[in-house]
Amino acid sequence: MAAATREWQKINLAERELLEKHLSEVPVKLGAIARDLGIDVKLSSLPLNISGQIAKTQAGYEIKINRHESRQRQRFTLAHELAHFLIHRDIIDRLGGTLTDNVLYRSGASENIEYEANRLASQIVMPEGALRDAYSRFGGTISESMVEVLAEQFGVSKAAMEIRMAA
Ligand SMILES: [Zn+2]
Repeated sequence: MAAATREWQKINLAERELLEKHLSEVPVKLGAIARDLGIDVKLSSLPLNISGQIAKTQAGYEIKINRHESRQRQRFTLAHELAHFLIHRDIIDRLGGTLTDNVLYRSGASENIEYEANRLASQIVMPEGALRDAYSRFGGTISESMVEVLAEQFGVSKAAMEIRMAA
């Protein structure tokens, strides 16, 4: 059901199956995905220029999301950090166990790594199948109001939806 993108194929099979169970219902329950993956998620008072962080803890992994950003932004950040967890655990290790994303989703990792995380995040919050269904109900004509309605439905910003639809 999910598109077999390069990022998607990097996810190990067990986690991919777990993830896909959550993708037919929108807005996608990101908190439930994190819980199923055994990740703690906390809204935190992170510095102003920081959107999110994923860190290895004794118990597993913990994601912190900046409590001061908008709800849609927080959702995308959570999906972005989940993406790092799913396909970049080796990178998190190499960075000493903590990866911190600023507001541009830049961290100590390479640009390519951040690009991958953004692509996967976007596929998680706006799953291919659900998006196709919603899209077909509009008769396939892209309009400003359609982007707005879909963004609302999927719990993302209009900008994120526009980028996803152009991909
Ligand atoms: Zn990142």
